[in-house]
Amino acid sequence: MKKQLRKTIIAGNWKMNKNRTQTADFIKELTDHIPAIPDTEVVVCVPFTSLQTAVELLKDSHIKVGAQNVHFEEKGAYTGEVSADMLTDLGVKYVIIGHSERRQYFNETDETVNYRTKTALEAGLVPIMCVGELLSERESGITDEVLSTQIKLDTAGFTAEQMRKTVIAYEPVWAIGTGKTATAEQAGEACGYIRGVIAGLFDKDTADAVTIQYGGSMNAKNAAELLDQEDVDGGLIGGASLVASDFEVIVKATTNN
Ligand code: PEP
Repeated sequence: MKKQLRKTIIAGNWKMNKNRTQTADFIKELTDHIPAIPDTEVVVCVPFTSLQTAVELLKDSHIKVGAQNVHFEEKGAYTGEVSADMLTDLGVKYVIIGHSERRQYFNETDETVNYRTKTALEAGLVPIMCVGELLSERESGITDEVLSTQIKLDTAGFTAEQMRKTVIAYEPVWAIGTGKTATAEQAGEACGYIRGVIAGLFDKDTADAVTIQYGGSMNAKNAAELLDQEDVDGGLIGGASLVASDFEVIVKATTNN
């Protein structure tokens, strides 16, 4: 399948930024800036406390709303957690799973990423599953092994249909929030490698249908070159998604590929 036939998804990860008032103000700014581009889905992944505000304000908009985590159990004694049903009930469409900050600070493992993703899929959410190598792993020349292990464990037990519905975000950990971006070639190569791993685990048609984003200091200046890569089908954007004019440039950069 050609890149043009896959869904391009530009998702902003606001992380732990913006209270409800700031969310409302920023969404007004975003709706003024972000054009609707055919075949490009734009998503804002906001903190749990801003979800309702975002969903209400974007109800008639082309911009979709995502959460930044979801618990893998349906309900129960899991103090502080939020279930998939609670998210879909609000009108949330996407959810980021296994972000490196959750892996690093909150003991997220490939096993819990796998559970969370299955639960999200069963609830009808679109999971954005994050994978990526540490700097030490890249420097030791084991990036491919790390990525293939993560993809294998994170998608264990998936049907081909579940795989097709999952968005993968390739996020080299050394490039997140550091200002260091993978070169377009490194990003393209890693995303292509991930597609090959999916083809091996499932089949080529399934792999060709999966949207694979790049994330890691994507910004208004480098977005076009990154998004131009054959296997890069969008971006997961942290810092630059908090500046409406920068996010606008990134979204518009999808029209060139
Ligand atoms: C992210 O949070 O997923 C991310 C890629 O952050 P940044 O764009 O700030 O590197």
